[in-house]
Amino acid sequence: MIKETLIFGHKNPDTDSITSSLVMENLEKELGNNVKAVRLGNINKETEYVLNFLGLDAPELLDSIDDNQDVILIDHNEASQSVDNIGNAKVLKVVDHHAINFSTPSPLYYRAEPVGCTATVLYKMYKENDVEISKTIASLMLSAIASDTLLLKSPTTTEEDKRVVKKLEDISGLDFSTYGTDMLKAGTDISEFTPEQIINIDCKLFEKGNKKFRIAQVNTADLDSIFKNQAYFEKAINDDIQKENLDLYVFAATDIINSNSKIISLGNDAPVVEKAFGVSVDNNTAMLENIVSRKKQILPNILNNLD
Ligand code: MG
Ligand code: MG
Ligand code: MG
Repeated sequence: MIKETLIFGHKNPDTDSITSSLVMENLEKELGNNVKAVRLGNINKETEYVLNFLGLDAPELLDSIDDNQDVILIDHNEASQSVDNIGNAKVLKVVDHHAINFSTPSPLYYRAEPVGCTATVLYKMYKENDVEISKTIASLMLSAIASDTLLLKSPTTTEEDKRVVKKLEDISGLDFSTYGTDMLKAGTDISEFTPEQIINIDCKLFEKGNKKFRIAQVNTADLDSIFKNQAYFEKAINDDIQKENLDLYVFAATDIINSNSKIISLGNDAPVVEKAFGVSVDNNTAMLENIVSRKKQILPNILNNLD
């Protein structure tokens, strides 16, 4: 039996990780390759909205991979965000838009561009390979860009993302702003989740030297509804800090209407956020004005100030 190459995004998958895996699967199949998109975690409400809207099934859930499995990484490259035994896999390709913290013994196709979304890179790859972008594929790409760039308002947004959105609106027949707003709002429905589940919807693990920390992010249209349960969030966060021996845990609730983030910072290195963002922490929380991007704002400021 010929083993198919598995395509997947990061753990705690967001809309880009899921939809771009499907978009890459389609591209690879069009190019005659034997591939299968899978996922490393639960589908969040926002992505559920997208898949329902398009009548698509979620990729199969993957827990672990066999040694020497051929894989394609989407929307991530760091081992800490990938499948647990990624070190035993053979990474054939990476398509990503994050800082590179990756090494491999074998040559590979590595495509990373400093754009707002993996889907923007994939759009260009379709063009380069002369592969037609269907209505469904265009809708998947548009969803990913709306999600990652918060409707092109995040500082991660580039001119390329804007240009691609225009093309994708034409192909999909969707109005980016209307569709994207509905999609983002669907993602803020966290009413049926416990604080422990909420912090894990979009949580990433990072390392600097011997320091280990997590940054979790959730989109909301109502900060108060989250912070009225602050004590429960703190309990869930402190449990993770203990369990994983973390030096720092930053939980950011991002207000998608006003483009601010209110954070909870815990762990021995919790005070780092004061220097990182020029704020004072009160009751473990701080309001970060005009901060919405983990990749471009929260993470680099913490990395620069953590020692
Ligand atoms: Mg992502
Ligand atoms: Mg992304
Ligand atoms: Mg994200």
